[in-house]
Amino acid sequence: MRQLADDVFQLPLTPRNGINAYLLGDTLVDAGLPPHGKRLAKQLAGKVQRHALTHAHGDHAGGSKNLVEALGVPFLVGAGDAEAARTGVPVTKLGAFGRATAGFPGLPVDGELREGDTVGDFVVLDTPGHSPGHISFWRERDRVLVAGDVFFNMNIFTTVPGLRQPFGPFTVDPELNRQSERKVIELEPSLLLLGHGPPVTDAAAKLREFAGRELR
Ligand SMILES: [Zn+2]
Repeated sequence: MRQLADDVFQLPLTPRNGINAYLLGDTLVDAGLPPHGKRLAKQLAGKVQRHALTHAHGDHAGGSKNLVEALGVPFLVGAGDAEAARTGVPVTKLGAFGRATAGFPGLPVDGELREGDTVGDFVVLDTPGHSPGHISFWRERDRVLVAGDVFFNMNIFTTVPGLRQPFGPFTVDPELNRQSERKVIELEPSLLLLGHGPPVTDAAAKLREFAGRELR
């Protein structure tokens, strides 16, 4: 567990920051793949009061069922992804292949999150596109943003870090995701924390560079 800011910790779940979860105060955001849920529950017993998702794909929600059953904490999901979280069936363009590769053990949802809701000292932002109900968590006072898979900060084939579009086949609405990218860029975050890849420091400048390359 690596501290990145006041009450903000990264939990890298695979080597080279391939899959990340984050502890924001007493909220665990994302839980990796199914085996990661048990590991996180052991590591975080007594430290977590609730578990929230950025979005309902198997590499973020895969560990949620094991974690919630072990710790007995409420499970919070963006309203547009709540059905996918309950059933474990993500919304993708890939049909049976998408369900097989991004599916996960579904579980009851205790609360649906919407833009403006607060989770600890973070505010929920709707950032749809990668999934219909993808959300991000924003803390304005030190400009920390946890933005799931709105961007990737690595090439998933080579693991080389760098801001890029999220993996295409699993992004259900790429144009809507680009709108969410613009929304994030306008916030000018200083620290951007993503599902895949290392923390992005000096994020506003790196996002401007990304916009010049990807959003013209
Ligand atoms: Zn992901």
